[in-house]
Amino acid sequence: MDQKAFDRNVLIDQEEVLRPKMVTVEIAGKKYYRTKDDPKVRTCLACSTAVEDGMSFSMMAPFPARKATYQMAELKDPKQDLFNLYPEAPMCRNCNACTEACPQGIDVRDGVWKAVFGDFKSVSEMFMDCVMCGLCTPVCIADIAPNLVALYASRAQGAHFMEKPKRLQERIGEIEQGHYTKEWDRILGMNDQELKDVCAAIK
Ligand code: SF4
Ligand code: SF4
Repeated sequence: MDQKAFDRNVLIDQEEVLRPKMVTVEIAGKKYYRTKDDPKVRTCLACSTAVEDGMSFSMMAPFPARKATYQMAELKDPKQDLFNLYPEAPMCRNCNACTEACPQGIDVRDGVWKAVFGDFKSVSEMFMDCVMCGLCTPVCIADIAPNLVALYASRAQGAHFMEKPKRLQERIGEIEQGHYTKEWDRILGMNDQELKDVCAAIK
């Protein structure tokens, strides 16, 4: 230990010692935080928020939300099935706490209602920026996991309600009919050097 640190005759610049230092650090995860002079506790993604002078924060542990189990391809009526898989979804009480908690600025409450009314297309667009942080879940007074409801609606939209690109459908049909089987067999039968030579020739 530096002897100077204990020297009572050395004047300490108290103001300098007490002056908070500005730091910028990033911590992966999600957290609750409050800044100096603001009583409101907010949420954020720690990976995209710099620590500020006087900030208090605590990290949020994963929340044990219930995730429904389903085979999307086997669902016959996904909009109706929502009520079997997530029966709590229509119990939303419009408190808006989920929207307030969302660090991605998504109107989560509106998304839940859109899912309940079968507007899966809007839900899939609204939740494009959802990072599945789960901050919207522990605040829900109706025990809804809005992010999981939205995930279900978005998957159902893609699997059941989107029009498949025409050329993609044609190509899948060609593959199923074996149009490319001979070519694949030829590629799979090549050794490393033959593969390199063929790839080089394509370039
Ligand atoms: S899980 Fe998605 S919707 Fe919920 S708070 Fe996080 S980013 Fe927002
Ligand atoms: S927190 Fe729950 S009850 Fe409140 S608006 Fe969001 S989904 Fe509805």
